[in-house]
This record gives sequence, C-alpha cells and structure tokens, in this order.
Amino acid sequence: MTAAAPIDVASIRADLPALSVQVHDDQQVVYLDAAASAPRPTPVIEAAAAFDREYPANVHRATHQMAAQATAAFEAARADVARFINAANPHDVVFTKGTTESINLFASSWGGANLGAGDEVLITALEHHANIVPWQLLAARTGCVLKVIDCDDEGNIDTATALSMLGDTTKLLSLTWVSNAIGTVVDLHPLITAAKARGVTTLIDAAQAVPHLPVDVRELGADAIAFSGHKMYGPTGVGVLWARGDLLADMPPWQGGGEMIRTVSFAESTWNDPPWRFEAGTPNISGVIGTSAAVRWLESIGMDAIAAHDAAMTDELVTRLTSIDRVQLVGTPQHRSGAASFNVEGMHHADCGMLLDRHGVAVRTGHHCAEPIMHRLGVSGTVRASIGCFTTSDDLDAFETALRRVIEVFG
Ligand code: PMP
Repeated sequence: MTAAAPIDVASIRADLPALSVQVHDDQQVVYLDAAASAPRPTPVIEAAAAFDREYPANVHRATHQMAAQATAAFEAARADVARFINAANPHDVVFTKGTTESINLFASSWGGANLGAGDEVLITALEHHANIVPWQLLAARTGCVLKVIDCDDEGNIDTATALSMLGDTTKLLSLTWVSNAIGTVVDLHPLITAAKARGVTTLIDAAQAVPHLPVDVRELGADAIAFSGHKMYGPTGVGVLWARGDLLADMPPWQGGGEMIRTVSFAESTWNDPPWRFEAGTPNISGVIGTSAAVRWLESIGMDAIAAHDAAMTDELVTRLTSIDRVQLVGTPQHRSGAASFNVEGMHHADCGMLLDRHGVAVRTGHHCAEPIMHRLGVSGTVRASIGCFTTSDDLDAFETALRRVIEVFG
C-alpha cells in the first residue's frame, strides 16, 4: 500500500471557523477536545443552514416540492453515510440522535427480542457509559447478564483473555473500538472473527474510531456499529446505527409513532421496513443533511491521509506529555488513537483543566463518561487532550507550554 499524501492542515483549518474564536477575550483557542465534539466545517454549517433557509419541510410525508427536496436530501445523506463506511445498502443505515441512542436502540430492539435470562453480553473494561448502562437496563428487563473483559494496568485489552471469555452462553459481544477515556485501540479483528465462528452477534461502538480511521463495515465483519455525527465534524444530535440487513429486518420497532408504521388501526399496527421502522417521528433533518456534508468533507481530505496525520499528532501528544516532570499518563496502551489522559502530581484534574483554559487550551477533565476504567486504573478522573485532522504541532506546542506554566505556577 502506498502512503497517503499528507493532508493540507492549513486549508482544513480555514474551513473550521471555531478555531479562530478568541476565548477569555484575547486568547486564541487551542482546541484539544475533539473527542467530545469536533469543530464544524463551513460546508457542514452551510448545508444545514441551506435546509433551514431554502427547503425546511418535513421528510417522507408531503407531496409538495420542498418536501420532496428535503426527502431527497435526507435519503441522499443515508447513501453518503453508507458509502463512507462501505456499507452495501443505504437502507442498513438508521439515523438516530447519537451513539448513545444507537446502542439503546440495538439493546432495546435486538436485545429485547434475542436475549433472555442467563444470556451473556460481553463488553470491555474500557467502555463509555453508553455501552454499559443500556445493557444494565436490558438485564433488569430480561435477566440477561453483563460480563466484562478486564484490561491490563496499561489499558490494553488482551486478545487471549477476551477470547477465553467467549462461552456457550455469550450471545452478544459489544465492544468499543477506541476508548474515549484513554485512547486504547482495541484489536477487534480476532474477537469479531471468533464471535462470528460461534454465532455470537457483534456490535461495535465506533464513536471514537470514525473521525480518525477509515471504517469499512465489510472488512470489519461486525453485525452492527454505532457512531455520532458530531465527533466526525457533523452537527450534534445525529447518530448512526448500521446493522446487517437481515438482522435489521428481524428487529422489532423500539419506539412507536409516525413513519415507522405501514398501517395503523386501533386494533393493531404493522411495521414499515428498515431503516424507517426505527426512525419514529420527525428526524433531525438539518443535522442529517449536515452529517452528509461532513462525510463529503472528510472524503475530500481522505480518511487514509487523516489516519496518518492523526496517528502522528497522537504520538507527538504522548511524547510531549511524557517529557514533562510530574505528568503521569493514565493508560499507556500499545495502540492508541486520538487522545491521551493524564494527571499532574499533586493537582486535581479539574484545577489543571481550568488553568489550561485560562491559557486558551480547551481540554476535558473528569471521568469522561467512563467511570469504570477510571476506577480500574486507580484514578477518580483525568485531564484528557484529544486531537483531530486540524491539529498542528503548533497547537501541541502551545498546549505543552501552557501545561508547563500551569505546573510551575501552581507549585
Ligand atoms: N461511545 C464513545 C466511545 C464515546 O466517546 C461517546 C461520546 N463521548 C459515546 C459513546 C456517546 O456518544 P453521544 O454522546 O454522541 O451519544
């Protein structure tokens, strides 16, 4: 494989107006919080605004021109997202309001129909709450059991340990691809292959993978993946659940209302086909249209090139953090993407984040909606710096300088 040409970070940054914002009156923002939400490119903002300005009609229901235009744009967005993840059929792409809703949909619908008392759902110690709590809710409903593949002290998921936990009662493997809290990239391939061989269904939380790595659902081999638009430079309030068509076809509705039905009478209702069966009510139309613009923006840069850039920036982030006295990395996984978590000896993570903010550096602090991995690694929270395709060495230099200053002044 030939290496992807480097990305043009200057032109990427020119597309991202949020990067020019001054915080605290006169500080140029250094945005190191892409893992929480990536900044929106102008074409994304424009595509969503054009819908609101020029054809703000509801989808699927009306016969007039504006509604037809809205419907065409909404369904074209589905095709864009399908192409982006190399899905064979756009109808296997369900729009939700985020990764959280995608996983809840899958748990409620597929889980409710397929998991009974004693059936096991296997997750990892790295999971975001969005891939923990829906299974706990389902366990309370059905008696299924949540099991956790532990990580090592560095935050790696050992493949052999994970494989040893696949048992006769395992029905679902629901795994994060990339940890939002400490950046670990899980080696999914052997786990998905082994699950498949045993007839275990696989769901991947790809929220932190999609902005950094090329995602090809055919190559991945999982049965379903979930991700969020706002972490891949799209608007907030849009998510995707992609699942194998035959799986979706057998899944019952999870919410009732308009659009998800074929017929309704007071006696009974019948269901629409996927994906609409799972999209009850008016969707986030402008957000979905913005998401398709985000897909096209990412494609115009190239995901292979983004992956190479983001890997280099992640390495540089870790190298810089490791060079600072009193900084302790939390999680030192072998494979990492996009984020690094740390604490400064003697300083609370919230104080560190607040002081960095005074230097214009935007990072996230706390447990990152992943309390179990914080406890596993013996901390109550961390400071997390996360990068994207817009991040430069200058950003990381400003971050390092600010962090050194914070440590010096704090004492
Ligand atoms: N999973 C992971 C790995 C995440 O990073 C996030 C967002 N931090 C989520 C799930 C939830 O995504 P959302 O809030 O967009 O639903």
